[in-house]
Parts: sequence; structure tokens; C-alpha cells
Amino acid sequence: MTMRLLILGGTTEASTLAQAVADRGLNAVFSYAGRVHTPRSQPIPHRVGGFGGVAGLAGYLRDHNISHVIDATHPFAAQMSWNAFHACQQTMTPLIALTRPPWQAQAGDNWQNVADIDGAVAALQGPAQRIMLALGRLHMNAFAAQAQHHYVLRLVDAPSTPPALPNHQVIVARGPFETAGDIALFQDHKIDLIVCKNAGGQGAEAKIHAARALGLPILMINRPDLPPRKAVATAEEIFDWLDHQPATDRGV
Ligand code: NAP
Repeated sequence: MTMRLLILGGTTEASTLAQAVADRGLNAVFSYAGRVHTPRSQPIPHRVGGFGGVAGLAGYLRDHNISHVIDATHPFAAQMSWNAFHACQQTMTPLIALTRPPWQAQAGDNWQNVADIDGAVAALQGPAQRIMLALGRLHMNAFAAQAQHHYVLRLVDAPSTPPALPNHQVIVARGPFETAGDIALFQDHKIDLIVCKNAGGQGAEAKIHAARALGLPILMINRPDLPPRKAVATAEEIFDWLDHQPATDRGV
């Protein structure tokens, strides 16, 4: 029975797992959606681009003799996670998720929680503010509906088409970020409010600490519904699961 892992990536945690997998000399392929121009290089082979929905992923799992799937995508990448869940069910491929617990507000934090992007846009009615929009490129234009604000956008790549926000500034930077740097950023840009997703994990947590240090409010977008798969928080737990999980035998 040959072990060949598929790691669905695009997160700091997935990259950490890839290094641990390489250190163990496991047979694995790392998958990127292809959203950023120059993805972080990985110590294991990688592929880039969508699979073509559930059917495409199921075909990939069969064609590439994948024995186990590790979903280490971002908690807001719900489509990919549901596709992985269904494709693994169809092909009877063992699936596990590498997840991180959501960030929790502490005493003294000023968080407003909303269900989704639309909820965040609706919550921004009111007088003009200087807003740090830490959401990534895909959803930024929704905030054009609240055009009174000045938005500071932190993006991995410079946008190829200008954001549809009348008052904005783009900062091109790639995490993981540090608290001191984010404190300086919020001060330099006179930020009044931070809008972000409850991603959890350490790679993007600096903004939470920075907001706390400066007493700034956060408009926090809650996580979407994710499939009912087994989920663990560390690479060690993934390896423990692999040690106890029979691989799919595709007869090769
Ligand atoms: P999504 O909405 O869940 O996925 C949309 C489609 O993109 C999927 O149906 C799939 O296409 C493709 N896709 C997503 N992740 C992929 C992967 N790792 N490998 C191959 N194809 C993938 O995903 P998203 O929210 O746009 O996120 C895209 C990527 O960025 C993910 O890898 C995620 O980990 C990373 N990321 C996302 C966020 C976020 O806030 N959403 C933040 C940081 C990083 P097909 O249906 O054609 O297979």
C-alpha cells in the first residue's frame, strides 16, 4: 500500500506541515489555488490551480493515487473544504483537516461580530472612518457600498485592476506579520477600525494583538460553515492519524 498525501494549502500552517512532511521524507504533493503571483516555495512537489469541482478533485485523487488528503486551507476557503469532503467520500479517501481555533475576544477588547462580508459592509454605515481592511483581494470591492470611509488594504500582490473603493491605499505585504509592525502600521495610517476574518492561527494574529495594544475596535467576520470532517491543530496529530489510518489501496 503506497502512501501519497495531497496537502491542500495556501496558509502558514500548511507550509509548516509541508516542512514537517519533507523532514519525514513522506511522499506528498502540495496544492495551491493559484491566487497569488508567486506562491511561497515548498520543500515538497507542488501543483497550482483548481481541480474542477468535486468531480475534478475525485478524478485527481484517482489519477494521482492519492492515499490521504490533508485539508490545510484557510478556514474561509469553505468551497474547497466542502469539495474535498465530497470528493473524499466519493473515492473513499481518508480526509483530515489541519485547522486552528478561532481567535477569542479578551476582557477589554472591543469586537463586533458579523456573519459574513455582507454583514461587515452593513455594519459600516455611519460617519467616515479610517479602516484597515485585512480581508484579501477577493472581497474588497464589496466595501464600495460604504464609500464614505478611507480604506487601507493589505494585499499579497499589487492589484492588477484598481480597487473600486474611492478612498483607499494599498499596502503590498505578505504574512506572517509581527505585532510591533502592525502597531506602527495602524498608527502611521491613523486607523480607527480593523475589519478582518476570524482566521485564527498565528500568521495573521499580529493585527489582533496590535488592535488590543492600541485599544482599537475590530469588526470580526465569523467563520463560514465547514464540513464535518476530523480536524486537528498540529502536524504531530496529523502524523499520529496517518500512523493509525489505513491508506486507500487503489491497486497500484
Ligand atoms: P474557496 O473559495 O474555498 O475555493 C474556490 C475554488 O478555488 C475551489 O473550488 C477550488 O477550485 C480552488 N481552490 C481553493 N483552494 C485550493 C487549493 N488549495 N488547491 C487547489 N485549488 C484550490 O477558496 P478561497 O477562499 O478563494 O481561497 C483560495 C486559497 O487561498 C486557498 O488555498 C486558501 O487556503 C487560501 N487563503 C484563503 C483565504 C481566505 O480568506 N479565503 C486567506 C488566506 C489564504 P476547483 O473547484 O476548480 O477545484
